This record gives sequence, structure tokens and C-alpha cells, in this order.
Amino acid sequence: MTPMIDLHRHLEGALRPSQLVEALARDRHDPEAIRRLRDDVAADETVDSLVSYLRRIDHATALLTRAEDWERAGAHAVEDAYDDGLDYVELRLSPWFVARQAGLHPRAVVDAVAEGVAAASARTGLPVGLIAIVVRDLGPASAEQQLGTVLETRDVWCAVDLAGDEAGVPCVEFAPTFARARDAGLHVTVHAGEAAGPRSVADAVDLLGAERVGHGVRAAEDPRLLDRLRERDVTLEVALTSNVQTRAATGFRTHQVHDLLAAGVPVALSTDNPTPSRTRLSEEYRRAEREAGLAPEVLQRVAAQAARAAFTPAGRSLAPADASSAQDPAAPA
Ligand SMILES: [Zn+2]
Repeated sequence: MTPMIDLHRHLEGALRPSQLVEALARDRHDPEAIRRLRDDVAADETVDSLVSYLRRIDHATALLTRAEDWERAGAHAVEDAYDDGLDYVELRLSPWFVARQAGLHPRAVVDAVAEGVAAASARTGLPVGLIAIVVRDLGPASAEQQLGTVLETRDVWCAVDLAGDEAGVPCVEFAPTFARARDAGLHVTVHAGEAAGPRSVADAVDLLGAERVGHGVRAAEDPRLLDRLRERDVTLEVALTSNVQTRAATGFRTHQVHDLLAAGVPVALSTDNPTPSRTRLSEEYRRAEREAGLAPEVLQRVAAQAARAAFTPAGRSLAPADASSAQDPAAPA
């Protein structure tokens, strides 16, 4: 059996609409706002870029204004992954983004989420890894402070990630922060090659020590970079539906995943943001086969790769014994 593993799922993008509606009704007593909410938290035809996609998540995050809301949100995310048949999930969140949107202290957010996730993980038996996102847009000085909170709560996390406006502050500015994170034994994944080109992916690997890259799909524009990613065994966390919605890819059939697999680059299919993308991991695998046209045996290798690239021993232990170190370059285009 190939394991069902999601390595790239944002907690802020996995909030249950029912919890959002409940929180809105509690805090605002505005029936019109409640009616609009269900549409507002889900991506639709008005979403035509990464910026408009992320705006949906901003709105949803701002609705959960109490620490206990985030404890429940953490538990829901684990339960929903379990209900979808997952064997392992890595959830990521930015405590600073949540804190700013929700009016809470970052440390309160971390403690609440960690408690909700741990309780649901124990109840369901689903192992979970947590990844701390450093917000890129706030700049390198803030990144240092953000990492400070991560290191204060070191036991909660398996890795750090850099996310936000990829075309803004360059990777090099965050190099000292990510060196400190690696020194503390944290794994590194970085959002790159989604809104910006191949250079952004190369910088994430070379300057920040990324072992995995969030999306990375625009690496397909540079064949030499693809060779390096394969040689260095850097796994790209590819989210088909999200990429089509943010226009990082032009469609399922034309998605860069075909070029990545053909070049032998390790790929793990991910959901990114299940709520606004209206998807789940089982649906991503279905779309990969039916809409992108990937063969079942290719998808089995992709699933095995997700286990190999997991940041915790619990995730890596799910790798099938025969999983090779690189995927078959002979994947169908
Ligand atoms: Zn993401």
C-alpha cells in the first residue's frame, strides 16, 4: 500500500467553514456577513492571482479571534486529514500572521494550535509534523524575532518555512535566520518558484538550505536547475489545484509537474489550502490521474516520495521499502 501523505498544508487554509461561520455569528451578529461568508472563504472566479487567493485566507484567519478557536482549528485540521484517509500530514502555520489577523499573541497561537493538534493526533492515531512559517513580507529583522518564538517553542516544530511575497525581499536577506534554524536542528522548506521564476528556487536551496521547496513549479523553466534539484534530491511540494487557481500553472494537462517528473525531480502532491481551493489530498490524486493524465504507477512513486521527504521519523517510516532515491525519468508527458 502506498501511503497517503500531505507535506504542504496550511492550517490557515484548512479552516472549516462551519467554525468560521460560528465565530462570525458569535463576534459580529451580522446576518448579511454570515450569508456572504461561505462564498468568501472559498476561491471562485474572482480569484485570478496569488494575491487574490491569499486575500481569502486573510479574511478567514481574522475571524478566529480567541486562542481556543485555534486549538479547535488545529484539532479540526487533523480530524479532516484523518477522515480523508491520510497516514501522515505536515501542517504549517505562521503564528505571526495568525496573531496579527486574529489580535492574539504569537506564543498564545503556538500553544493553542500545538495542544489541539496533539490531542487530535492522539485521538485519531494520525501522526502530524508541524512547520513554522516565517513571514517573508515583514523583512529580515522581523524574521529573526519570528525565529525567536520558534526556538522558544522548539519541541513543537519539525521545520521552518519562508512564505509570502516571493518577488519582494530576496532570499539572501534571510540567510542568517535560516542558518540559525538549521543549527537548532530544524528542517527547511521554502515557498519558491510559484510567483517568481527559477532563480527564486535556486536561491531557496543555495542560500537558505531548503531540503524541500513549496511549489517550485517554475523551476521547469530552467533544465539545468531541474538537473540540480534531482542531483540534490530536493523534493518539490506540488499542489495542482492551487497552482491552477493562482495561475502558477496554466492548467492540469499543461501543468509543469509533467516536466518535473520527466526530468526525474522528486515530487510530492500536496493540497496547499484545502478550504479556499475546495480540495483534499484524495481529490488531488484523482485530479492528477484524471485531469493531468498521470499514470497510476507514477502516482504511486509520487506517494512514496512524500514519505521519503517527510521531516519526521513517523512520516519517513511510511516509505515503502523499495522506494528508489529518484523518480523514474520515463514518466509520461
Ligand atoms: Zn503554501
